[in-house]
Amino acid sequence: MQTSVLIVGQGLCGTWLSFWLQQMGIDCIVIDEERPNTSTRVASGVINPVTGRRMTRTWMADEVIPFAAKAYEELGRVLRTKYEGRGTNEGRGQGQEQEQGRGQEGSLNKNDVFPANHQPATIQLIQRCDIIDFFNSPDRRKDFEEKAKQYAAEYLQWPQDEAAMQQHFRYELGYGFIAPAYQVDLQTMLDGWRQYLLQQQQLLAQRFDASQLQLLPNGVQYQDIRADKIVFADGIAAHAAGFFQLLPFALNKGEALILQIEGLPNNHIYKKGNSLTPWRGGYFWAGSTYNNHYTNDQPSEAFRQQMEAWLQSVLKHPFSVLDHVAAIRPATVERRPFAGWHPQHPQVGILNGTGTKGVTLAPYFAQQLAANIAQQTSLLPVVDVARFARVLSRS
Ligand SMILES: Cc1cc2nc3c(=O)[nH]c(=O)nc-3n(C[C@H](O)[C@H](O)[C@H](O)COP(=O)(O)OP(=O)(O)OC[C@H]3O[C@@H](n4cnc5c(N)ncnc54)[C@H](O)[C@@H]3O)c2cc1C
Repeated sequence: MQTSVLIVGQGLCGTWLSFWLQQMGIDCIVIDEERPNTSTRVASGVINPVTGRRMTRTWMADEVIPFAAKAYEELGRVLRTKYEGRGTNEGRGQGQEQEQGRGQEGSLNKNDVFPANHQPATIQLIQRCDIIDFFNSPDRRKDFEEKAKQYAAEYLQWPQDEAAMQQHFRYELGYGFIAPAYQVDLQTMLDGWRQYLLQQQQLLAQRFDASQLQLLPNGVQYQDIRADKIVFADGIAAHAAGFFQLLPFALNKGEALILQIEGLPNNHIYKKGNSLTPWRGGYFWAGSTYNNHYTNDQPSEAFRQQMEAWLQSVLKHPFSVLDHVAAIRPATVERRPFAGWHPQHPQVGILNGTGTKGVTLAPYFAQQLAANIAQQTSLLPVVDVARFARVLSRS
């Protein structure tokens, strides 16, 4: 079998790279072993223009956020078109509909991505979901006030009535809006694109075994696949072994609870130290931690206790815990992604290191790498792994 690009991994990075390659007319095959606790499967799917304790504007926000918003819509449309006649899910509502039934009709089981009797215009992967940022302390409120006047002004707004959330949350210092923010239904995206690739015979649902990879002068051979290039989009696996192991990763673990909360509107993301994010099926995702000193990738009792205590202290509605998930984020020391080609093996590439911002960054930089493959356009130097040529030459 012959292909242009072999991609290892179908998380956010592998999904977007294979999507853009396909849009550019470049054929590819993806190898992915489906695992329940990958970073993309566990993520809340938020695109947030202002993050962190210091309310810093997301890196390249003005460029990458509008790009991502359009890209997820485009992927939803492509998934819809590919399955025209077969029926698809109805996606999730907008505006008022979104408040009422968000995720319920459109939420899908893994094996039921395209049920047989609906034909909507698109599969809605992304929707506007602004953040209500409850101030934890007077200092946080002051920061918000200052930042709202300064550079982040376009992303920080005041509500008309700061008491409006009193029926849902306990808070004393008011809140502001971070907007526009978005939420992406990553489960539907992963499952939909996986199903599409499988039907196109472009996905090998198996573990990639590095011992079977052979580097050829102008390409690679893997089992019976001959490819011009291979790109590793294998998340944290790249840190454990392989061509890019020496890159400065700084992995960290995150956990979340999946909750049923009666009476809480699901048209906003709520933040008060931790976050509550609407989740498919009408549920909520509550998280998270950024733990650099983890000993395993499993959900921990300590997190569950801490999160339940937090929920009890802030939430005025009863909740029940349906699931508890954990994954390791493929973060980097510089907080910038890794894209590009190995200095000694130009047929071997990487797309990785999206850290806490994969939902925002993966569409943009996957498109850049795809264009680099299709049209030899250059990569942004700050993400290009050429910057680590010396380190990588040691491997
Ligand atoms: C708790 C938590 C919350 C998060 N919330 C957000 C958020 O709200 N917004 C945001 O932007 N980001 C968020 N992130 C970060 C985001 O999830 C990551 O940036 C992104 O998912 C990384 O995608 P990836 O494709 O690089 O890796 P992954 O999602 O890990 O994908 C790698 C894929 O490669 C496959 N693979 C690996 N090795 C092999 C092999 N040998 N053979 C075959 N397949 C293999 C894996 O099975 C997997 O499918 C969150 C992360 C966590 C953990």
